[in-house]
Amino acid sequence: MAGSRFLVLGAGGLGCPALLGLLAGGARRIGVVDCDVVDATNLHRQVLYDLGDVGAPKVEAATRRLRERSPGLEIEPIPLRLDERTLSSLLAAQSADTVVLECSDQPDLKFLVHDLCGEHHLPLVVGGVQRWGGQAMAVRHGAGACFRCVFEGAPPAELAPSCAAVGVLGAAAGALGFLMAHLAVALDAGDDVAGTLIALDLRELRPQQIRPGRRAGCPGCDPHAPRPAQGPLGPACSTSAAAACSR
Ligand SMILES: [Zn+2]
Repeated sequence: MAGSRFLVLGAGGLGCPALLGLLAGGARRIGVVDCDVVDATNLHRQVLYDLGDVGAPKVEAATRRLRERSPGLEIEPIPLRLDERTLSSLLAAQSADTVVLECSDQPDLKFLVHDLCGEHHLPLVVGGVQRWGGQAMAVRHGAGACFRCVFEGAPPAELAPSCAAVGVLGAAAGALGFLMAHLAVALDAGDDVAGTLIALDLRELRPQQIRPGRRAGCPGCDPHAPRPAQGPLGPACSTSAAAACSR
């Protein structure tokens, strides 16, 4: 496990606690991808940053903070705006021992990451948070259910509520980010977590674990089903200028 690589897509509300959770779980090689800058309005749930980081690229601030905690950490900041082309190139360049953590705030990007990880034979953990809770799912394509067995696809962009509109409880993002890190480390260790979805609602304080069966005709994992259609990605939830992006 010590040599495995973890690729964290998104260094915001889920990505910050996921990165800390990876450190706590013993990860020594991490790549972190984001093209946004630290915004003062999100500091309550983006727990790696403080006021001194406002305006700095998130990948640079996150890298600095993680190195302070773990000087021997091998961490690669990747300032990249993710779309189908850049994501496919990024995943194709990953070593076979990479585990991907999808920590963005874009529902359609989660499905794109999921599908491309299948094409590139990379295990992943997909997380999502809204209001008081959310869910995290460990996926190893070919072993158990995939994300599309549970969620067929992202809602149309015009129907998907934005983070700003619905709000996100900082503690929910923190709990789910750490849970994502735990699932990623477990996937890497070969534990029997592939196909497991854990849902958490901090109002109820009752986590739920489900292990759905594979869905016949699922476009994400049934080799006889047509591949899922992927339209252009909708806008991200973030509000700050994308000063750190490259393409
Ligand atoms: Zn499936």
